[in-house]
Amino acid sequence: MKPDTRTAMRQLMAQVRAAIPFDAPAAQVCTGTCARCSMKLLEFLGTELQAWEYHLDAGEKPTLGDLSRLARTSRKVYAVLERNGLVACES
Ligand code: SF4
Repeated sequence: MKPDTRTAMRQLMAQVRAAIPFDAPAAQVCTGTCARCSMKLLEFLGTELQAWEYHLDAGEKPTLGDLSRLARTSRKVYAVLERNGLVACES
């Protein structure tokens, strides 16, 4: 049986938190040679996760569109962090 969207959103958020280095020190994130700003992307995605945490705790039910938007945003942020050398290359 497929999980409901609230459970699926919590699972997705846990995967994102495990894969994205939110706690990396600024000296590691800010290298001065970024193609795109890792710092701003980490802040943006962290805020998105906090907002969903709040919505889920308030009993809101995300749509499948919400899930795929967060997954897509997270993949894009991950790709930039990978380019900037902050996460290990998947291949
Ligand atoms: S682009 Fe962003 S992450 Fe990169 S050095 Fe500048 S502030 Fe830091």
